[in-house]
Amino acid sequence: MKVNIIGGGPAGLYLAILMKAENASHEIHVYEKTPADVTWGWGVVFSSKTLDYLSSSDAVVHERLQGQLNKWTDVVLPYQGQEVRVCGNPFSAIARIDILKTLQVRCAELGVEMHFDHQVDDVKSLRDCDLLVGADGISSLVRETYKEHFEPEIRVGKNKFIWLGTRHLFTGLTMGFTESEYGPFACHAYRFNADTSTFIAECTEETWKKAGLDTATEEESLAILGKVFARELDGKPLLSNRSAWINFRQVKNAHWHHENVVLLGDALHTAHFSIGSGTKLAMEDSIVLARLLAEGKSIQETLASFEKERRPAVEKIQRAAETSRIWFEHMGEKMGPDPHLFAYDCMTRSGRVDMDLLREQDPAFVEAYERARAAADS
Ligand SMILES: Cc1cc2nc3c(=O)[nH]c(=O)nc-3n(C[C@H](O)[C@H](O)[C@H](O)COP(=O)(O)OP(=O)(O)OC[C@H]3O[C@@H](n4cnc5c(N)ncnc54)[C@H](O)[C@@H]3O)c2cc1C
Repeated sequence: MKVNIIGGGPAGLYLAILMKAENASHEIHVYEKTPADVTWGWGVVFSSKTLDYLSSSDAVVHERLQGQLNKWTDVVLPYQGQEVRVCGNPFSAIARIDILKTLQVRCAELGVEMHFDHQVDDVKSLRDCDLLVGADGISSLVRETYKEHFEPEIRVGKNKFIWLGTRHLFTGLTMGFTESEYGPFACHAYRFNADTSTFIAECTEETWKKAGLDTATEEESLAILGKVFARELDGKPLLSNRSAWINFRQVKNAHWHHENVVLLGDALHTAHFSIGSGTKLAMEDSIVLARLLAEGKSIQETLASFEKERRPAVEKIQRAAETSRIWFEHMGEKMGPDPHLFAYDCMTRSGRVDMDLLREQDPAFVEAYERARAAADS
């Protein structure tokens, strides 16, 4: 089988690995516009369940990723100078570039033909194959080229966010909230290697403008955020990696495939970063598609089965992610005086975590919440 994959992110590389490992005679090309050692963003976070899922699809990649993970069990909520910890939430983080390098090495070992520094400008020129995969991310050219068939729906979030790094080493999955002189800000932060943490800052457009971030240079943005989050960052500076203020875009597609073309990962669907599931969703797409392709049915049957199997799971995560995104867009209205009441609201915001689960994970947190609730209601 000849497969052309546009995009060498987690979705494209992992599909190439799984297909080539299953059948070495496949001819698989991955076209990636950036050089092998370049990417955007900082570290990403996985839940422990995601990694179990990877272990049963490619044990080599799973083992190599395991060795590079930074693990922790607490969600930490710094809130107006106080801090609430919720235990029993196993997560791990890794630099995005390290995931890509691990996948690239495995692709090379298996004989996948990788074409780095190769931007595809004409998708149709790569159609001469059994399967063309659009794994080209949120701004997918493949999706755009066949938009009348995929019928994408792009919903733009209201908040502004920026994906930064810092040398401050956070000790858990940190969701910090602070009411600044300009309005409320949130940060999503976690350590992902020995000396660096991811730091995503988020605020409403109104706050963003009041802080002068709409006209600030990159350097000025880092300085403004450094002051807003001085307490959370322990005075350490923020770092940029081609970082820019943007609005989250939720991508959905009415149709997932057209003839021998299929979309995968962020090109097909996105989920707000506050639930940290995009890479997981992308790699799960690859697992399901590779398994169905190995069954040897026609491409049309395979792609129809792929959509049928994956759509419900993806839409469930997208619903939770959207609820979470909207919660962050209204965070200012939720910021009352009590840190435990706020932390409970934040932890349960997407509907995936409830009182019973929290009680199981961290009974002391639930007791503190119930005391605060009773005091507030009396
Ligand atoms: C702020 C932020 C934080 C996030 N945090 C997390 C997290 O903690 N956990 C998590 O699981 N996910 C997270 N994500 C989501 C995650 O980054 C994506 O869901 C994931 O990268 C999707 O993988 P992908 O392979 O589909 O797309 P991408 O990783 O975007 O890869 C697409 C690739 O295609 C290439 N490409 C694009 N166009 C072309 C072209 N025309 N020709 C050739 N190559 C092309 C791009 O260079 C890129 O390498 C976060 C996202 C953001 C924005």
